[in-house]
Amino acid sequence: MSKTPRIRYDACRVCGCTDDRACEVGCSWVKTESRDKINPDPVPPLCSACAGTPADMQEALRRIASLSRRRNGGFEVVDEAARIARAAIRRFKQRGETADA
Ligand SMILES: [Zn+2]
Ligand SMILES: [Zn+2]
Repeated sequence: MSKTPRIRYDACRVCGCTDDRACEVGCSWVKTESRDKINPDPVPPLCSACAGTPADMQEALRRIASLSRRRNGGFEVVDEAARIARAAIRRFKQRGETADA
C-alpha cells in the first residue's frame, strides 16, 4: 500500500492520459512552464497530443485567471501569468506549423 507515498501528477492536465494509457494517436510529455516557487502545487504535465489545442489554450487561460486570485503575489504573479501565456502561444504556433491536418 505504501508503494506510491505521495500523489504523482503524471496525468495530462488537458485530456488526463497517463504513461499507461496514452492518447490513441500516441503522445509524449511536453515540457511545461511550471515554476514551484510561485505555484506550490506542481503543475500537471501536458502531452504532445494536447499541446497547442484549443483545450490546451483554455487550460492555460484558466490557470492565468486563477493566478489573479493570489493577491499577495505582486509582480511575480503578473510575471508568471505572462510566462504561462507565452508558453501556451508558443505551443499553439508550433502546432500550426507542424500539423497541416
Ligand atoms: Zn493530453
Ligand atoms: Zn496524451
